[in-house]
Amino acid sequence: MTAPTSLEAGLRCRCPRCGEGPLFAGFLTMAPSCESCGLDFSFADPADGPAFFAMTGVGILVIAVWAWWAVVASPPIWLQILLVFPALIAGCLAVLRPVKAWIVAEQYIHKAEQGRFASLGVHGEGGFAIDRRKAAER
Ligand SMILES: [Zn+2]
Repeated sequence: MTAPTSLEAGLRCRCPRCGEGPLFAGFLTMAPSCESCGLDFSFADPADGPAFFAMTGVGILVIAVWAWWAVVASPPIWLQILLVFPALIAGCLAVLRPVKAWIVAEQYIHKAEQGRFASLGVHGEGGFAIDRRKAAER
């Protein structure tokens, strides 16, 4: 079992640790854990990152091709609308899963997670006592 790169795990929509178990239980719903190595996927929180990258990447590509096509061929507007909007929607749907899997793999590799204030608690140095009741118990 060799660890996949984040890109390999993303493109194959597989577990970022073993590269075997499927990451998704639905179209974009994460599986609770890897069925191959047991990695708990609860650390994963890509939020709206996949949607942002999918919309931006597909948008730039489709709009660039559309602009080139409109200048070169001057197609009728109804044909442009008929082709460009479905291309935007289909393109975003096509790349959303692998982009989400890639971002989850990046979160796993770089141990990215929600920030916490553990270093500022009553046990920290520097005289910070965030929770005075706990500090009084010491
Ligand atoms: Zn796994």
